Amino acid sequence: MYAGGGNLIVLLGPPGAGKGTQAVRLSATLGIPAISTGEMLRRECESGSVLGKVVQDVLNSGQLVSDDLMNRVIASRLRECDCENGCILDGYPRTVSQARFLDRLLKEANLPRPIVFDFQVETDEVVERLNMRGRTDDKPRTIRERLKVYRQNASKLVRYYSGKQYYRIRAGGTPEEVSGTLLRILSCQP
Ligand code: AMP
Repeated sequence: MYAGGGNLIVLLGPPGAGKGTQAVRLSATLGIPAISTGEMLRRECESGSVLGKVVQDVLNSGQLVSDDLMNRVIASRLRECDCENGCILDGYPRTVSQARFLDRLLKEANLPRPIVFDFQVETDEVVERLNMRGRTDDKPRTIRERLKVYRQNASKLVRYYSGKQYYRIRAGGTPEEVSGTLLRILSCQP
């Protein structure tokens, strides 16, 4: 279980903002795992399980998987021992209800709140990046739906996190530039 050593880092931002790339880079630099809930769900789909089949339909629609399922997935993942010194959450929380759940989880374990980086990218650039990526949920119609769902939740999430170790990041630069920004902020943390 995450034990409060190091950082619990949350990456917010639209699909295609480069959260996954930065999660992997931070993971290598900080030596803590990058946890992508989207990746975990895709693995479940590939396993061919009954749950995977249900999840696949949700992913293809561009909608979100239920808060309840995601909260259970994350609670159990954070209990794994590789999270002891922190971790990077890529794609969770995506709703205020998930953010509240995460805070409750941390509070119950007497742990500090996460550090939140909110990736800002122009919509045109995001659509271009997603079109190039070619995942099954990166089809134009699904992309539009995913961006719509993102926008529906984003402002509420931002309001929830504002003033709580919340940092807006200009994520349109190169991966090196963005990593540099993130590491500079992290190095200033107490
Ligand atoms: P991602 O790889 O982060 O873009 O996630 C791909 C898809 O997985 C999303 O479009 C959602 O359907 C689902 N998903 C990933 N993380 C979450 C989450 N925290 N809550 C709900 N659904 C999620």
